[in-house]
Amino acid sequence: MSARILVLGTAQDGGVPHAGCDCATCLAAHQDDTRRRRVASVALVGETGRTLVVDATPDLRSQLHRLALAAGRDRLAPDALLLTHAHVGHYLGLAFLGREAMNVVGTPLWATASMGAFLQSNRPWSWLVERGQVVLEALEPGTPFTFDGVRLTPFLSPHRGEDTDTVGLEIEGPSRRLLYVPDADELSPDLVQRIRAVDVALVDGTFHDASELPGRDLSAIPHPFVAESVEALAGARGEVWFTHLNHSNALIHPETEQRPQLPEGFGVLEDGAAFEL
Ligand SMILES: [Zn+2]
Ligand SMILES: [Zn+2]
Ligand SMILES: [Zn+2]
Repeated sequence: MSARILVLGTAQDGGVPHAGCDCATCLAAHQDDTRRRRVASVALVGETGRTLVVDATPDLRSQLHRLALAAGRDRLAPDALLLTHAHVGHYLGLAFLGREAMNVVGTPLWATASMGAFLQSNRPWSWLVERGQVVLEALEPGTPFTFDGVRLTPFLSPHRGEDTDTVGLEIEGPSRRLLYVPDADELSPDLVQRIRAVDVALVDGTFHDASELPGRDLSAIPHPFVAESVEALAGARGEVWFTHLNHSNALIHPETEQRPQLPEGFGVLEDGAAFEL
């Protein structure tokens, strides 16, 4: 079986529908399950079928079920986890690993030193470490490691570090290289270079443009606007897919409706997408 990346979610941390929101998009998503987007996450399925879930989202329960179905596995629990950073959409799902729910034993959890320290010094996360339910594995930016025949290299992503740093991942299979960077404050020159170098890039598309979220100070939650990213990334050699979409982003509409057009080579990532490595 060939290694691949399965997309488990494509929404910003708050998901679609968003808590406490009655915008048309969120109301439609409440009424029609196919218009929901789970919080951004991907799973690596390795060469022998082992699974590594990237980020433990508040939607982890349904995402693990979908992962098992897509990967053809009986076992619902992931073989390993990796966390990109400590914003709520990316780690709250860890709660489901504990005694009150799955009660896993010895699941490897890849995290940077700051992410690991955050988990070890805050309840309820520290219970998972103390009880041996997760075993922290050191994730060092710039240092590659191998999981089930696939090489992963974490790198620092420029993102507001309230509690921890943030990593993106370069994932290299036998035939393709994929980049995953769901959260970045800006497309830094380093990030642009990385995206341009790979076959497939799944990148931060939180906001389409500056007209979203009237009344909210976007400088407090900076993200590159998709409308500008497509210019900065024009001519990239590989495919560029936008993920981590906010409920306000017009790109989350179904393709047939009022979705802004993207230039060739760019696309809107959908829950359930798969990429062979
Ligand atoms: Zn996020
Ligand atoms: Zn909404
Ligand atoms: Zn974040």
